Order: sequence, then structure tokens, then C-alpha cells
Amino acid sequence: MKVAVVKETAPGERRVALVPEAVAKLRSAGHEILVQSGAGARAFLPDESYSEAGASVLAPDHLAEADVILMVGRPDADQIGKLRSGQGLLAMLAPLADPELANRLATTGATAVSLDLIPRTLSRAQPMDALTSQANIAGYKAAVLAAASFGRFFPLLITAAGTARPAKVLVLGTGVAGLQAIGTARRLGAVVSAYDVRPETKTEVASLGATFIELTSVGPASGAGGYARALTDDERAAQQAELADHIAKHDVVITTAQVPGRRPPLLVTGEALKSMAPGSVLVDMGASTLGGNVEGSVPDETVVADNGVTIIGAGNLPSTMAASASTMYARNISSLLQYMIKDGQFTVDLADELIAGVVVAHDGKVVHPALTPATTAAG
Ligand code: NAD
Repeated sequence: MKVAVVKETAPGERRVALVPEAVAKLRSAGHEILVQSGAGARAFLPDESYSEAGASVLAPDHLAEADVILMVGRPDADQIGKLRSGQGLLAMLAPLADPELANRLATTGATAVSLDLIPRTLSRAQPMDALTSQANIAGYKAAVLAAASFGRFFPLLITAAGTARPAKVLVLGTGVAGLQAIGTARRLGAVVSAYDVRPETKTEVASLGATFIELTSVGPASGAGGYARALTDDERAAQQAELADHIAKHDVVITTAQVPGRRPPLLVTGEALKSMAPGSVLVDMGASTLGGNVEGSVPDETVVADNGVTIIGAGNLPSTMAASASTMYARNISSLLQYMIKDGQFTVDLADELIAGVVVAHDGKVVHPALTPATTAAG
């Protein structure tokens, strides 16, 4: 089978779908790998490293013959225009955020597979879970960014020139990214507290050496599939007010809260921000064009508020660690690809729960249950 790695075109995207190590593994499984020239350059992986691993490095026009196209993010309009019937496309397509994309992909006749839709509770899907691998990287980088922007030490330091008290870090949202942020801040020596609406994360927080904060005004808000549910307006207001007292007592706040299919919940209001001491740092991993966990945060922008609080709106953090992120993503996408190859052919078995969970479009139609029937393409 011919498998092609296409260069990402989204602004700021440095990752690549396969690294040379993954190329070598797929080659030894009998596949031919085509890599678009320059695909790995922004992850510090030159064309030669792919050639040495056994890939053919080619100009984009030569990738059309591939049976399957691998990408990190969405293809652009030009790349979608080059997809053909029967071809497979594996990428993090985030189709729920843009159902029209699913229609456009369906009209090409290609099979579009989205790694961000992997049913995460299936144990056989864990090696394919790109959301987890990339959230781990983002959580680590958020803590490192916070430490780099904070004008004081994270650890307790006792020196002849004086003693520095450890930084107090608060992590809001303790899913995959939040737990990694806690672990990283702890390894840097900070005293860490954390909060989540899902109380079942309390043991994980404690096992990392952090203190779990329990709010009295909001009850548990665990939703389906291990995720949180959206809070009601009253719950949200109560949560914001009670959190404000905790936020004021911390030097650094890292927010990671997400609710699937919704805008990120607002956890740090403008009032709470004002209560923080000058020099404090906020990293908002929920920052998005729709708004984030922190009032006024903007993705990929760092602003210093009038009261001397630095607000870092996280953008694509995994891309800032493109080498590690690509290595982990390559393992995820290779696992899914190999799972879908039966008797040497790219096979779409929609009777398999895992496959039905990830296939967005197939045979000219939008087939994912979360996107049908309203968005089903004609034909
Ligand atoms: P996520 O990115 O959707 O959300 C991050 C965190 O924000 C979650 O812990 C959520 O509870 C929290 N949150 C949402 N609204 C909040 C609010 N108003 N206030 C405070 N916190 C709020 O989640 P994720 O990190 O992708 O994963 C979430 C769950 O999925 C976890 O339970 C995780 O363990 C689970 N998971 C399971 C598997 C598996 O079973 N193999 C794999 C990956 C993740």
C-alpha cells in the first residue's frame, strides 16, 4: 500500500504526521511511504532523514497516487481538491466544530478519518489516542511557559542571598492536560492546588502531590464518557465567585477546562483577575476565538493587565514542541492506519465500534452519527 505524508499548511503548524522512525516501521510492514518534500522541516526533520528511513521524498503533485494520506490537521481547500474517490485521509479533522468540512470531504469520495473522534474508553484505541498524546504535551508546555513568565522561583530556594518561598500554582481542570501541568509544576518545585468539576479526579490530583480544592457551591458535574457536563448559569456564577477567592491566593493559575462541543467555560472573571497580585501569571489553555477560561484572553497572545498580571492565551502548544508532538502523533496515526489495513488493503469496517467512531465520510456520504443526517452530502 502507498501511504503519503502531506505537508501541513495551517498557519503556525510545525508538526508532521510521520517521523522517520515511524516511516521505517511502516516500511518493514511492507508499505511504500511517500513524503512531501519539506513536510518535516518545521519539526527539524529534513527530507534526507525520511529518505534514509526508506521513504520517497516527492513534490506534492506526485502524492495523488497514494492509497492513504496522513496529516496532523485539516487539509486546506487545495489539498481537499486533490483527494480522490477510494483514497483514505487520516488526520485530526475536528469535524464537529465545522460540519461543512465533512460535506466537502464527502463530495471527494475519499474516506475521511478523524483521530480526534477516537472512542477513548476502548482499550484497543489507546495507542491511537492523539487527543491524549497532544494534551499531555500542551499541559507540560503550559507549566513551562508559566514558570518562564513568572518573575520569581517555582521551588523553595535557601541560599546565602536569602530564601525564596515556593510559587503557589493553581490548576483548573484536571483532565489529561491539567494532570500533566500539575506534574510539571510539581517537578519544578511549586506548591500545587487543583480543581475540577469531576470529583473523581481527586485521587489522581493527590497522587501527583497536589491538593484538590472542593467547592461548596457547585456539586459534581460529571457528564457522559468521562467528560464534564456544561454547568447551568446559576452553577457557573457560583463557581466563578467561589473560585475567585482561591485564585487571589495563587501566584500562577493554569486553566485547562473544556466541555465537548461547547465554548470553554469561563472560570476566571475580570473581577477575579483584578484580585491577583502584581507579577502573577495566568495561562489559559482554553483560549479560543469564542472566548476562553480567562476573561479577555486571546489565543497566541500574551497581555499584561493594568494590575501587572500576565495573561498568556495558549495557542497550538503541541506545535511549539513539534519534535516530541510529531513523534507521539506518528505512533497514534500509525496504530490507527495499521488497524485499518486488512489483508494489505485500507479497509473501512463500520461494524467495528472503533472505526464507526472515527470515520467522518465514506463512499461519498457523511457517515459519522454525530454529523448525520442533517449534514449528509448528496450522492
Ligand atoms: P477535556 O479536555 O474535555 O477537559 C479538561 C478538564 O476540564 C476535564 O477534566 C473536565 O472535567 C474539566 N472541566 C470542564 N468544565 C469545567 C468547569 N466548569 N470547571 C472545572 N473543570 C472543568 O478532557 P480530557 O483531558 O480530554 O479528558 C477528560 C476525561 O477523559 C478524563 O476523565 C480522562 O481521564 C478521560 N480519558 C479517558 C481515556 C481512556 O479511558 N482511555 C483516555 C483519555 C482521556
